[in-house]
Amino acid sequence: MIGTQDIEKFRELLSQAKKVVLITHLNPDGDALGSTTAMGLFLTQMGKDIEMIIPNAFPGFLSFLSASNRMINAEKEREKAVKVLDESDLIICLDFNTLKRVGKFEEPLRNATQKRVLVDHHPVPDEGFELYFHRTTASSASEIVFDLIVALNPELSYLSKEIAIALYVGIMTDTGSFNYGANDPDLYAKIGTLVRAGANPEKLHTQVYSTNSESRIRLLGYSLFNRMVVLKKYKTAYIYLTQKELKRFHYHVGDTEGLVNYTLSIKGVNFGVLFTERVGHVKVSLRSKGNFSVNDFARKHFPAGGGHRNAAGAESRMELADTIQMFEELLPLYTDELNEEF
Ligand code: 5GP
Ligand code: MN
Repeated sequence: MIGTQDIEKFRELLSQAKKVVLITHLNPDGDALGSTTAMGLFLTQMGKDIEMIIPNAFPGFLSFLSASNRMINAEKEREKAVKVLDESDLIICLDFNTLKRVGKFEEPLRNATQKRVLVDHHPVPDEGFELYFHRTTASSASEIVFDLIVALNPELSYLSKEIAIALYVGIMTDTGSFNYGANDPDLYAKIGTLVRAGANPEKLHTQVYSTNSESRIRLLGYSLFNRMVVLKKYKTAYIYLTQKELKRFHYHVGDTEGLVNYTLSIKGVNFGVLFTERVGHVKVSLRSKGNFSVNDFARKHFPAGGGHRNAAGAESRMELADTIQMFEELLPLYTDELNEEF
């Protein structure tokens, strides 16, 4: 699964490093936090001095992941994050493919001269890493961390319950509870190992998916009833939300997570988008079924857009209404692709 040469190289890099910094992407999700937590706990057991940096806050429902409360939020504690990065001997980047994905922390990360290791599953990673643990067919970065743990510690003596939980949550959230990107039978053997090590699927599913606030569920109902536009001709549906609406429903980080997926649950809709008005930009979440690549679409039409074939994201610097207008004007260019059978 992971080449012996790469593992040897990783061992060597680790043996030369005392302080290791782990960093993940902006708006950290279950996989970002799961892979970082697991790698952090694992390397701690290997005797390394670990610091973990997140570019900004994560949704409260993920705070049960052990180590998540130890992570340095670079938006809130920039000086501390820069200091920790400066003092490190090795940097491990998890669950992102380009340095642009760390938002305002890009500059210090780009300027850091330490060797970098990438652990990721997004297509077309940046050049410049010393070592790549990269596989686009992996369900998640967490699955790659699992593979790394197996390769470095085959007897699995370091696979603690906390690590198993973090990896399980990363895989579960990045596959929409084993709905997509989860067709590889080997994945289920790995899941078996995680469950045996103490990850409880029923409990973790409840912890992640059944902790909604009342206002989040009302926001969901409002969005689907009042703010969803279905364009049958293009097999497309989108939802848009303004700042004012988010305030009305007492928005918290993570409250719109998963909302875009409802568009795809409509029969005949193959392309779904969520536009959320944020301060100074519009967050765009794109999803597709089948061959239509939202990664290509996001890369082509939005600065710094990207992701996977069927799940991507971007930020638009235009007003919400202008962003939606541009989006609607682009659709006719894709009529054939969107109507393709798959
Ligand atoms: P989401 O829509 O859930 O925020 O993100 C879906 C996928 O797209 C994730 O794999 C995420 O890493 C990626 N993604 C989200 N936002 C951005 C963005 O602004 N730029 C790029 N390149 N990828 C993004
Ligand atoms: Mn991921």
